[in-house]
Amino acid sequence: MDRIDTETKVLGLVGDPVSESLSPRLHNRVIEKSGLNYRYFAFPVRKGGLKQAIHGARELGVKGLNVTVPHKKEAAELMDLLSPSATAMGAINTVIFTDDGKLKGDNTDWRGFTESLKLHGFTPEGKSCLVFGAGGGAAGVVFGLVREGAERIDLVNRTEAKAGKLARRMEGISPGVKLEVRPISGYDLGKRIENSELVVNATSVGMGSTEGQSIWDDSSNFHSEQIVYDLVYQSLPTEFLELAAAAGAETIDGLAMLILQGLGSLELWTGRDFTSSRMVDELREYLGGDGSRE
Ligand code: NAP
Repeated sequence: MDRIDTETKVLGLVGDPVSESLSPRLHNRVIEKSGLNYRYFAFPVRKGGLKQAIHGARELGVKGLNVTVPHKKEAAELMDLLSPSATAMGAINTVIFTDDGKLKGDNTDWRGFTESLKLHGFTPEGKSCLVFGAGGGAAGVVFGLVREGAERIDLVNRTEAKAGKLARRMEGISPGVKLEVRPISGYDLGKRIENSELVVNATSVGMGSTEGQSIWDDSSNFHSEQIVYDLVYQSLPTEFLELAAAAGAETIDGLAMLILQGLGSLELWTGRDFTSSRMVDELREYLGGDGSRE
């Protein structure tokens, strides 16, 4: 990791804030283990500064950027080209600077999500799923489930209109999927959770100021025949996962998705596939995902 020379290629993350991001540690660990002559940095970029930052990075020969909150949607609008998944989600997490000077946007969140499910032997095809949330993370989850042919997805969000908007973006991708927007209260949500083979928290409840809280707190709706997934990757295990685990459900936290979406970006930039369950386990340990609340 000590060799930096004129051939060293720069990768990075733009967002605000980026100080707590795990991405630099994650990417530089893979770079180090793979012997690549790259380095990955976190660049704090305020709202209003994104266009200049991306164009400046292109001029400096930066090889690729990840994009995080609050820029994912705006970044998509700045791209010359978008992958089909980024088009459907209306947001990107990866910028590729092409050899002919174009900006290409992609979104690896959905792959990180579906690949992490596969590591647990779960394929969404034909399954009943319920997703809490309708923000950027939920877009990756819902796109992944729709694309992989889930039979039914109940989409539940505090702000129902946002869930409606997300559902409309997914229209036409896999016409067989039954995608329904549900209110967070006022109908038998508990029953729907019980009937779901996969229940996902894609809200930010459980981290930051809501640490220790759960988007659903009735553990009697969880059971051993389902997978309960929380996208939150800090303060693990989250209360949501603890409730589900106590009821016998198999649980997955957000670290594997975080790692796999990062490996997806690295693949887009370098053309090399780093994804393996061994790599995920190694990175998980390296990033401190030992299951304890931090
Ligand atoms: P976002 O776009 O800001 O969306 C936040 C979501 O959380 C919205 O659906 C919001 O509902 C909901 N929410 C926030 N506070 C709530 C509360 N008190 N009660 C009920 N709902 C609440 O954020 P995001 O990018 O989707 O991220 C959401 C979570 O997923 C974060 O914890 C993030 O770290 C995680 N994430 C993880 C990965 C990964 O790789 N593991 C990837 C992406 C995101 P409203 O629409 O009603 O405001």
